[in-house]
Amino acid sequence: MTPEEVRAAANRIAAAGDSKPRLARDPVNRPTIRTWLEVIGGAAGTAADADAVPADTVPADRVPPAMIQVWTMPGLHGSRASDDPLGAMMAVMNEAGYPAVIATNCDQAYLREVRVGEQLAVSARLLDVTGPKRTALGEGWFVTTRSTWTAVSTRLEQGEPVATMDFRVLKYRPVPREHSVAPARQPVMRPSVSPDTAFFWEGTAAGELRVQECERCGARRHPPGPRCPACGAMATGSYVVAAGTGEVYSYVVHHHPPVPGKKLPIVIALVELPEGVRMTGELLGVAPDRVRIGLPVRADFTRIDDDLALPAWRAATQAALPPRVINVTPTLVVAAALATRDYQDVHHDRDRAIAGGAKDIFLNILTTTGLVQQYVAAWAGPGQSIKAISIRLGAPCHAGDTLTLTGEVTSAGAGGSGDDRVDGRVDDSVDGTAEGTERVIAVTGRCGLGDHVTATVRLADSRSPGGPAGGKG
Ligand code: ZN
Repeated sequence: MTPEEVRAAANRIAAAGDSKPRLARDPVNRPTIRTWLEVIGGAAGTAADADAVPADTVPADRVPPAMIQVWTMPGLHGSRASDDPLGAMMAVMNEAGYPAVIATNCDQAYLREVRVGEQLAVSARLLDVTGPKRTALGEGWFVTTRSTWTAVSTRLEQGEPVATMDFRVLKYRPVPREHSVAPARQPVMRPSVSPDTAFFWEGTAAGELRVQECERCGARRHPPGPRCPACGAMATGSYVVAAGTGEVYSYVVHHHPPVPGKKLPIVIALVELPEGVRMTGELLGVAPDRVRIGLPVRADFTRIDDDLALPAWRAATQAALPPRVINVTPTLVVAAALATRDYQDVHHDRDRAIAGGAKDIFLNILTTTGLVQQYVAAWAGPGQSIKAISIRLGAPCHAGDTLTLTGEVTSAGAGGSGDDRVDGRVDDSVDGTAEGTERVIAVTGRCGLGDHVTATVRLADSRSPGGPAGGKG
């Protein structure tokens, strides 16, 4: 099958439009919510979360938005509908010689809150097929479908849309194992460390920005060098520890060439320090179109391994969420898969997971989405509604791993950072929110193999007139 034939097949499937709405097996109901909250919303089996709100005190008539897909999961003996566009496209890809599949993105937008007792239905259409592309896993195609959930009403024949999800998978031809690169460590460019610069890198590893200072005349300089440009004295190892503040003096947006371990574009800033020197570093968490000269920044450190931490910068105004550490026990993986009604064997059967090339059973996507939602919701508190969750999936998170969620507020108001959003599609599906009432939270979940998930969560004040219907219905 040629790429042209694959595209022709994709066009035929896309032209068919939405599949016939498939009814959820049960209306939105409290027992399912309670089970979900018990596993994903509450303690998740960790001591650090001992003070988390117990699941049975969470009002089970408030429906967690990230449960949207749970309601229409097909169940243990379910199968795909014959007009399911993802199934049809997967069959085309299998025929074209791309047998393996991995999910890469999941962007959910919540149009309004779902209520207990509502009957939901879901339909799906093929949104986009792009390829063939060379990826680290092998040559493949990115296939994106859009699911739309509706609340079925006797009055409305069509049903009222309540949520959408754009789901992207990579369908690929795996690189033979002996040719593949071990994914254990994310590749990075490492600095060359010389006797002149060793003190600087020892500093970043210790969480300090060290600025070289001439012992004879007191002049400070960066980058480090063997000789003082002001008085000519040789370096003696003298330095000051910078306060870690500064402002953007200049910057570039790097689009090309590729940088190992980085998703482009990235912002490289030249930052002016109050200590009197300028220093370059990646500006994290600020979208290229939101950087400006004079932006106040604070130092941060990207830890690569025990020996190396790279200096980086963040906007000084960004508020950080407290980290949440989750022990991903086998019980959590299995219980969460069942609580999300996902019966794929790789989430509960270790032998089958290993036979499929995994290290162990691993978290399913519905759980990851739920954990991200609960992490942000617990921090945001009541009165805040989650309008959208956009997820980019990375390394799998296996039983036995520790998943550490961190987050920060990347913007308030519309048109936020969006560094992990895909093609701005979240923006298309979220509207009607007044600027200033919406916040964008960037969440990262790291596990043993690296980033398991990077996500953006859009939060709106549900008490504001522009917010979602939040319980008013
Ligand atoms: Zn000097």
